[in-house]
Amino acid sequence: MAEVKFGAVCVNEHVKYVHDSSEDLPAIPHCDDCGQPVFRQCPECNAPIPVRRYSKSDGSKTRWQAKRYCYQCGEAYPWGPGRAGQLIDKAQRYIPGPAAESSPTPSGIIFPTGIMQYLDETKYGDELVSHARDGDSCYRYSLWFPALTMYIHAIEWAAITFLEAETGIDIIEKERDGVNYYLAGGEHSIVNELIRHADVDQKTISVINSTNRLERRWVAHHKSGQTRRDDVDAVRGRLETLVESLFRTLTIKAQEDEE
Ligand SMILES: [Zn+2]
Ligand SMILES: [Zn+2]
Repeated sequence: MAEVKFGAVCVNEHVKYVHDSSEDLPAIPHCDDCGQPVFRQCPECNAPIPVRRYSKSDGSKTRWQAKRYCYQCGEAYPWGPGRAGQLIDKAQRYIPGPAAESSPTPSGIIFPTGIMQYLDETKYGDELVSHARDGDSCYRYSLWFPALTMYIHAIEWAAITFLEAETGIDIIEKERDGVNYYLAGGEHSIVNELIRHADVDQKTISVINSTNRLERRWVAHHKSGQTRRDDVDAVRGRLETLVESLFRTLTIKAQEDEE
């Protein structure tokens, strides 16, 4: 379950203070961890900043985290995302978009409502969803390589989100502690954690294994034109399959528990 309060958050997403009321948060200009400016309100619209934490299955709590976009005005927070997504959002304000009829549109919904609700309660679901959306933004502009890259990252985040939510293995925290993970292969790999700690099917494992190093292989083959789009469609399809196979049954389980 998520617990929600208001927070003072620095540019590097250190949550400095947490309180029931945003007015009672102390005003500190800079983070004592990293020296970056600290915000108690959205810089765009002055709305207070909700922060959330979750209870793990063993009863302990995760650290407080802020969302990436303001719930009121929709702008990305200073620690928020954007990577490809924000850049493209900005670019769209200055350059005319592709003509509607010529704009390629990805087909198939990656996150049906039930899965979306499940992900909203997880620690890293935001990352998964925003990478997939960044991928779709790139897709609409025929930016095939960035789209491919974003979908591959989304595949990685799907596994990370699942592991944290269902097994308590937090890859991001482990990396903070100095353990470096690869998607597949190497001493520490995400796919090995899935095999070792979760009851995942062969389809899931093969989706991840076949995605490993795809970016580099793709660059090496100098793909162009229609081939590129077909490849991107295939990777997006894999992401869809993975999200379905990882989260579908959990969504159904959560609904049954409520009944
Ligand atoms: Zn900081
Ligand atoms: Zn705002």
